[in-house]
Amino acid sequence: MANLRFEVVAEAFKKRPVDVRTPYERPSEYFAKYVFNRQKMYKYLPADIYEKLVDVMENGAHLDRGIADAVADGMKQWAMENGVTHYTHWFQPLTEGTAEKHDAFVEHDGKGGMIEEFSGKLLVQQEPDASSFPSGGIRNTFEARGYSAWDPTSPVFIMDDTLCIPTIFISYTGEALDYKAPLLRSLHAVNVAATNVCHYFDQNVKSVHANLGWEQEYFLVDEDLYFARPDLMLTGRTLMGHDSAKNQQMDDHFFGTIPERVQAFMKDLEIQALELGIPCKTRHNEVAPGQFELAPIFEDCNLAVDHNMLLMSLMKKVARKHGFQVLLHEKPFAGINGSGKHNNWSLTTNTGVLLHKSGKTPEDNLRFVVFIVETLMGVYKHNGLLKASVMSATNDHRLGANEAPPAIISSFLGRQLSDLLDHIEKADKDELFKIEGKKGMQLGIPEIPELMIDNNDRNRTSPFAFTGNRFEFRAVGSEANSASAMIVLNTAVAEALTNFKVRVDALIAKGEDKTSAIVDIIREDIKTCKPIRFDGNGYSDEWKEEAARRGLDCEASCPVCFDRYLDADSIKMFESENVMQKNELEARNEVKWETYTKKIQIEARVMGDLAMNHIVPVATHYQSQLAKNVGSMIEIFGREKALELSDRNIKIITEIAERTDSIEKGVEELVNARKVANKIEDAREKAVAYHDTVAPKMETIRCQIDKLELIVSDELWTLPKYREMLFIR
Ligand code: ADP
Ligand code: MG
Repeated sequence: MANLRFEVVAEAFKKRPVDVRTPYERPSEYFAKYVFNRQKMYKYLPADIYEKLVDVMENGAHLDRGIADAVADGMKQWAMENGVTHYTHWFQPLTEGTAEKHDAFVEHDGKGGMIEEFSGKLLVQQEPDASSFPSGGIRNTFEARGYSAWDPTSPVFIMDDTLCIPTIFISYTGEALDYKAPLLRSLHAVNVAATNVCHYFDQNVKSVHANLGWEQEYFLVDEDLYFARPDLMLTGRTLMGHDSAKNQQMDDHFFGTIPERVQAFMKDLEIQALELGIPCKTRHNEVAPGQFELAPIFEDCNLAVDHNMLLMSLMKKVARKHGFQVLLHEKPFAGINGSGKHNNWSLTTNTGVLLHKSGKTPEDNLRFVVFIVETLMGVYKHNGLLKASVMSATNDHRLGANEAPPAIISSFLGRQLSDLLDHIEKADKDELFKIEGKKGMQLGIPEIPELMIDNNDRNRTSPFAFTGNRFEFRAVGSEANSASAMIVLNTAVAEALTNFKVRVDALIAKGEDKTSAIVDIIREDIKTCKPIRFDGNGYSDEWKEEAARRGLDCEASCPVCFDRYLDADSIKMFESENVMQKNELEARNEVKWETYTKKIQIEARVMGDLAMNHIVPVATHYQSQLAKNVGSMIEIFGREKALELSDRNIKIITEIAERTDSIEKGVEELVNARKVANKIEDAREKAVAYHDTVAPKMETIRCQIDKLELIVSDELWTLPKYREMLFIR
């Protein structure tokens, strides 16, 4: 009987691109078609309601019930014109992905019929039965109430027949049970702190927004091959599989021609994403075969996070239509690049960009330096926490391993900016800073060319690189909710700016001139945060030693990294900036540890199953074929001659025996390690045990399996191989 794997592979390679047709000629015709944006608000809401809603969205004005009812009416009308029958609150619980529970618009009309109903009450607040979302014990199951509450700053959208309302998700007592609530609080914190600092330079600044431009990396794999890999289906990554002879060593995939089937998928995805208001801009092949990237134009951080979550679920849906599965796991295949989600972060005011040196006036220059240095201060002080914010069982394969970016957070500024900070730090203050009568101040700050020519390949490996008008946080995992990293970054920068202002104000109160006070504090901070600045090779062992000497966080164990959330400094930061309270942080850490344990537990089970049910039987089957052959040889040639002729087969028979034996023992040890770990009550200790004693055993087993893959007859091997999954024709 032919191996089913051969048929599946042959079918996969025969597939043709799906024909993607669109009635539109250009994106401007359909961009945000399914979004209740300003344009639609204007059309569907009474004028006074529109004004009030804009005030709520832009200035955080109070939302009263009267407006909510009127807004709900307008939304319902628009939605029904688009064939919508249901609505849902759409939120981001502490699992991966988003949650939704659809309700139909229908209500009894009291006369035996039905009417379509949707009120302000339903728009503003809902009480999903939330007892089975992770809460880290904040909500005991008998007090299962969790509320979802409308976030008017992220517009409502339509998915298929459902009106989706972005919401926060909080407990009955007000603790955050999701990512959005603390994200909004962190955005508020950075807005307040940064606006206050801006007032040193410009009284007209009303608000500061954090922006996020994410770059989403992902793998595509043919779905028939995917379905033949239980490990991919259940864990999102391959737990075994020998390297393909050819993978990424020729550097021929990066920016290469996009395969036709993939191109069709991308086109389809982009159309649907643009209809949902996601401003898709860039697409290209990534470094590894089968790996791609999509990046939109950056947006307000809150909206960008929502759009990323939406895009990830859209990708999965569209991929299926094209006969693909999308892999968002950070490391679906060993031996080739994993996937990240670079988070480009910047601050803008209502009057301009903050992290860009326009260089028009000395004040502009000084303001630029202040925001760069205080961002570095936040990142320096909380570098371990920032790493914890992007750590997960899956991203551990990138951060914990020798792969971009390294598990030590440092910042690359490029030579010009680095030189500039050194200059400010070291220059004689009188020389650096002179007030020349009415002409105003002169700051001896050298010009920085707009183009940071020093931003060359070297910084590709830096976890937090300055790229001209923004910082690019590269350690975020491809599968992650970006909010986790953005909450920490915004809050850390807010805290740094708050502290900065307190110290500058103290000097001013003592009678020092404002600009002089700012320069004093900046010089102090440039010295303080110097350890975070690193322009060299992040993978070298010297850097690990050097980073430890500098006091940077070098912890590489995922569950131990989570401890940083409960450090006194972290709690103080979150509480003082009003982003999260200690009990929320504790609860969320419980969830992190539990999630970590469950992920490794599932992987270990799948590994055990596959090893014993697929690999060992196949290898043994091949071994007995060989043994039978040796037996026949003996019949033909007699014992001595036959054994001589069967030398190679006997070696393989022996190797299979040794390796399967080792696998069986490994699986037994794996099961035992799990049993021991499962007895541990404490969530943190259990996660640490899974990290230290369970995860490494899977590696040992894998190593044996991958060797077997090389010697067992290809005809008998049931699992699709790397060389078959990685290349899309
Ligand atoms: P690269 O891969 O060279 O880093 P890309 O063009 O793939 O760059 O992606 C860069 C991302 O950064 C895009 O999402 C882009 O919109 C975003 N971006 C550009 N300028 C800013 C900014 N000032 N603040 C935040 N994000 C930005
Ligand atoms: Mg980038």
